[in-house]
Amino acid sequence: MTPEQNTSVNTRFFDTKIEFLKGVGPQKAALLNQELSIFTYGDLIQHYPFRHEDRTVFHQIKSLDEQMPAAQIKGKVREWTTVGEGSKKRLVAYFQDSTGLMELVWFQSIPWYQKNLRVNTEYIVYGKPQNFGGRWSITHPEIELATHENELGGYWQPIYPLTEKLRKRFIDSRALSRMIKGLLEISRSHIKETLPENLVQKYRLVSKADALWGYHMPQNQQWLHQAQRRLKFEELFYNQFRLIKNKLLHKTEYPGLIFNKTLLVKEFYEKHLPFQLTGAQIRVLHEIHEDLKTGKQMNRLLQGDVGSGKTIVAFITMLFALDNDAQACLMAPTEILADQHYQGLKKFADLLGINIAKLTGSTKKKEREIIHKELLDGSLHIIVGTHALIEDIVQFKNLGLCIIDEQHRFGVAQRAKLWAKNKSIYPHMLVMTATPIPRTLAMTLYGDLDISAINELPAGRKPIKTVHRYDAHRLSVFGFLKDEIAKGRQIYLVYPLIEESEKMDLKDLMDGYESISRAFPDVPLSILHGKMKSADKDYEMGRFVRGETKMMVATTVIEVGVNVPNASVMVIENAERFGLSQLHQLRGRVGRGAEQSYCILITDYKISKDTKLRIETMCRTNDGFEIAEVDLQLRGPGDMSGTQQSGLVDLLVANLAQDGEILRVARSSAEEILTSDPDLAQPVNQPIRMHLQNLRKEETNWGRIS
Ligand code: ADP
Ligand code: MG
Repeated sequence: MTPEQNTSVNTRFFDTKIEFLKGVGPQKAALLNQELSIFTYGDLIQHYPFRHEDRTVFHQIKSLDEQMPAAQIKGKVREWTTVGEGSKKRLVAYFQDSTGLMELVWFQSIPWYQKNLRVNTEYIVYGKPQNFGGRWSITHPEIELATHENELGGYWQPIYPLTEKLRKRFIDSRALSRMIKGLLEISRSHIKETLPENLVQKYRLVSKADALWGYHMPQNQQWLHQAQRRLKFEELFYNQFRLIKNKLLHKTEYPGLIFNKTLLVKEFYEKHLPFQLTGAQIRVLHEIHEDLKTGKQMNRLLQGDVGSGKTIVAFITMLFALDNDAQACLMAPTEILADQHYQGLKKFADLLGINIAKLTGSTKKKEREIIHKELLDGSLHIIVGTHALIEDIVQFKNLGLCIIDEQHRFGVAQRAKLWAKNKSIYPHMLVMTATPIPRTLAMTLYGDLDISAINELPAGRKPIKTVHRYDAHRLSVFGFLKDEIAKGRQIYLVYPLIEESEKMDLKDLMDGYESISRAFPDVPLSILHGKMKSADKDYEMGRFVRGETKMMVATTVIEVGVNVPNASVMVIENAERFGLSQLHQLRGRVGRGAEQSYCILITDYKISKDTKLRIETMCRTNDGFEIAEVDLQLRGPGDMSGTQQSGLVDLLVANLAQDGEILRVARSSAEEILTSDPDLAQPVNQPIRMHLQNLRKEETNWGRIS
């Protein structure tokens, strides 16, 4: 291919409105717009199937098997009849091939089938075969007339994301696949290669055009696989390309405040350090300090499991800012957490004569005004708070450092808003997370950040012992809790909270609270849930922190960051209703003191395979990174905590749980190109330049639509 051909693009073709595609028209177009956000040819060609069904073989009725997830059968409808009344009413068709007779059953759209089903005509049906008393049947099979084309079998049917409404209007995967086939046929000359030739060669990738054909219309499994591999590579390559480009941009384009004076840091180290820092804490502080001295803006992610000691690292990092006449802020996702940070940091700050304040949604107006004023005149050095901090009215004299705790609760947009709080020079940014993230996810979610990890717990911590108990064993669990309380320990009892049914969950919690009060009549209890007023929460939390109450009955509001070293037992009710990382987070509330800590996971007798794996993983290991990997495999990247609001991992084809290897290769390819040819001046890199332009255009179009 000459560079000429390689770079010419006709983007207008893919901007064509979908209604102009043969067989679509205005009505279907409106549906596709509305239901699937498909507006243009480009949108349609990128509406990828999420799986493919094997339609290469026809099964015989006599050799059907209950184990088959689905079977394709060719035969004739001999006759049909309706059976039953009301909601039980169904249409039963007797379907025959040369080996036997079976039933096809419909509960819905009966009139349509009555009108359209033809007897003694050859059909191809597809669906899950079930055997009732020796007779095979398929409920709601896909059915179509045998035609010259499909009679031969020999293809893989793509299954597309659809909605109920589309199905009702007979836009199903078959219909969509016909549209896409039509589009592919007229697109041939318009599909341009988006990757440099040398990459395509090096990694033996099929061309973009072949990949689109092969993904939508694979002839065989191998072709499908090659098509997928190519599209995944492309997607991850561009995902990484942008992240790395951003990262390099920040490093080269934006200056950073230089923090090289370390007066307070020294004073704190020498006089007030409450414990010896772990090796990992010292290493991470070095990494941070290196960034702060360079004159480039720091954008760093600090990963560390619960209890690994991120708070003190955050505080010392703040001191670097203060030592250099800059202010620091720390933003946390909840009031409870903001408060805990504030309490923790204030103790240190007071020792050094540093001014610190807290700003949250419930800060009184008077107080708020004082804070605003002092931030602006510089007399307030550290501000800790919730998202109240990013409001426009909050302005600083010289904000030099922003720390965001539990980043996954915040969007990327919020990070940008904090940057903008220093008009002359972007503040340094330290993002902390206690949710260990698998490598692949970190690379995509935080690919534009440098990463530090505290991978060592403070000395003397005993690993938490985790056990699984069934509901029926609750009495013996209570017995154990009584013993622990007698030894002076405190206990958390957590109930699940699912937002959609808050009322019901609250009832679970209240029932739980009552049964606990009955079982432990002499033990003072606290209760904590999201529906309580902030002041009441604080009151209850305060009593527990001071040891006045021995048990804390709570929903997951205690999940993040709460620190009560004397609490050594975590009981999680209905543990089957929690995700792995959430279980791990909750468990992290204990094991913070010198005593042996326990985590007891209580479930029903009947639990699913996945739940079993989650519980087993929890009982086996305390390592957050290992747990995160299992979680990723179980749930897929879309549901992992941390991804929902990021907006970064909207991958269409690639799957971060499976495509780690492709991601690594794509990332290093992107890195290589950005280092050797940052301006994309070399001819071989022209496809990248063109594709990025198209992507940008697509985005601006989107901006207008939504
Ligand atoms: P997280 O990383 O979960 O935010 P914290 O910063 O809250 O962890 O620390 C957890 C507990 O461990 C706190 O009580 C803290 O004082 C203590 N801690 C932190 N670092 C050390 C250390 N190096 N040695 C002993 N205790 C430490
Ligand atoms: Mg913390």
